[in-house]
Amino acid sequence: MAKYIKNIEKPVQKYRFVFQSVFALLCIYIGIEFYLFTTYLESGGTTEFYNRPAGVEGFLPISALMSIYYFFLTGEIHDAHPAGFFILLAIISISLVFGKSFCSWLCPVGFISELVGDFGEKIQKKLFKRKLKLPRFLDIPLRSLKYLLLAFFVYAIFFSMTALSLKYFLDSPYNIVADVKMYHFFANITQFSLIVIGVLFLLSIIIRNFWCRYLCPYGALLGITSLISPNKIKRDPISCIDCGLCAKACPSNIKVNKIINVISDECSTCLSCVDACPVADTLDVKSLITKKKISKPKIAIGIAIIYLIVISIGMFTGNWESKATKEDYLLYYQNLDRIGHPTSVQDIETLNKVSEKEKADGRKQNK
Ligand code: SF4
Ligand code: SF4
Repeated sequence: MAKYIKNIEKPVQKYRFVFQSVFALLCIYIGIEFYLFTTYLESGGTTEFYNRPAGVEGFLPISALMSIYYFFLTGEIHDAHPAGFFILLAIISISLVFGKSFCSWLCPVGFISELVGDFGEKIQKKLFKRKLKLPRFLDIPLRSLKYLLLAFFVYAIFFSMTALSLKYFLDSPYNIVADVKMYHFFANITQFSLIVIGVLFLLSIIIRNFWCRYLCPYGALLGITSLISPNKIKRDPISCIDCGLCAKACPSNIKVNKIINVISDECSTCLSCVDACPVADTLDVKSLITKKKISKPKIAIGIAIIYLIVISIGMFTGNWESKATKEDYLLYYQNLDRIGHPTSVQDIETLNKVSEKEKADGRKQNK
């Protein structure tokens, strides 16, 4: 093997782990706060009031996608779940600059999936002396599943809804209490849902990132936006010694050693391949515009800065807390089982009228 200049750049994986852990802890904190808020709702407003954490709206991506489209059509930020709007905007902005990096740097599901995948790979190496992966004839059609799910949501929102129907939906009690309904789904999880989660967990041990690779519509959306990101992993074929370590390290099974630019919807900018490359200045993230290398610490800091800037814009422009009051939540909570998914504009109108009437009745009683 020809002599080469050793890559002495520090790996970035432990910093990525710190990012993932901090974000996961933030999600747990939000979960605890939201749990306390629901105890207040359950008591009918008789116990101590706990603030509803706006960050919970990060778990309502469909509502956020509707808000983004509503903003696109009207120029208004809808006030039901404004934090969700900014969180999704921050995540899309990151992927436009640094590819699908949200999945491998911040997403708590991606984090769990990675930990489970690492565990699975250890077992596989012991049992089979290699990592398991699906053959191409299964892998490719399965990867399209997440795009089919995304296409369904895109069609239902961008091709079927007008500004008016979006407003009706976003104003509806169903949308406002979507966070409480989601909480109830997990707090009172059915046996069937538990089995589905258990099966996904097992599949993630056998096939790395099963959920992310095949089913997550969020990842599909970011995969598409990441394709237009100007910053890509680039291999220098002249200094490359074709050791294959980059491809071996890639959790997305991308054959990094066979291509020049990694332009793939499956690349999550985890930088495992860059860390694994033993040759200096051979595998780096480079700007396709300036042709310059972007160092690993700059990517980490860039991801954090973009996220914080977009979130701060939401917070400091007064578009963070939902305009739904605790009285609205108390009222809707009492009628939670009656609040179903509206399927037509008429449904949404009826739901909104009923809720307006109930609010007015409530105000009369309070007088
Ligand atoms: S190509 Fe590199 S950065 Fe992209 S997923 Fe594979 S290892 Fe991670
Ligand atoms: S890790 Fe990949 S890019 Fe680096 S030398 Fe080996 S084959 Fe080439």
